[in-house]
Amino acid sequence: MSLVKYKSKRHFNETPEPEGKKAKERSKLIFVVQRHHASHLHYDFRLELKGTLKSWAVPKGPSLNPKDKRLAMMVEDHPVAYATFEGDIPEGNYGAGHVDVWDHGTYEPIDEDGEVITAAEFNRHLHAGSIKFRLKGKLLKGDFALVNMKKDEKTWLLIKHKDKYATDEEYSSEDYAKKSSLAYTATRNKGKVVKKK
Ligand code: MN
Repeated sequence: MSLVKYKSKRHFNETPEPEGKKAKERSKLIFVVQRHHASHLHYDFRLELKGTLKSWAVPKGPSLNPKDKRLAMMVEDHPVAYATFEGDIPEGNYGAGHVDVWDHGTYEPIDEDGEVITAAEFNRHLHAGSIKFRLKGKLLKGDFALVNMKKDEKTWLLIKHKDKYATDEEYSSEDYAKKSSLAYTATRNKGKVVKKK
């Protein structure tokens, strides 16, 4: 868990994103999902582990439908302070666009049988390419898995487990996005139409 990559991609005199530093390990772990309209709209799924946020970019966003296996590309670890970041990343900067918190809360690392495990064990599962966790968010609740596709280190799938929080209805994270997020995207899309003319 290192922030070297995170820092090397950003100029903190130009972006409002937190420079952050490695945080102390805590027993209560947080997760956050940020809706990020950069060059492409995606959702960043982040789990606190060992003082940083392990991060995946999920193009379609998370789903509460267990049938949806959402592609999740692992990206660089982010500082824990990033969990509350919202705002505009100016053009010319890495990830330029708009970031909003879509959901946040705490999580518990769990094993195959749904038993709570230690962060150290969870970290071993992460390196083995398969983790399970119990989310306690406002939108995302219950058990989920992130599974490495074994194609490379970066390609994972985010999957909801069947439990009382799961749905068999079609699920779109955009339906739960903040009005301000959708307004930003509408403005960007409008811009695109104008440019095409
Ligand atoms: Mn992003």
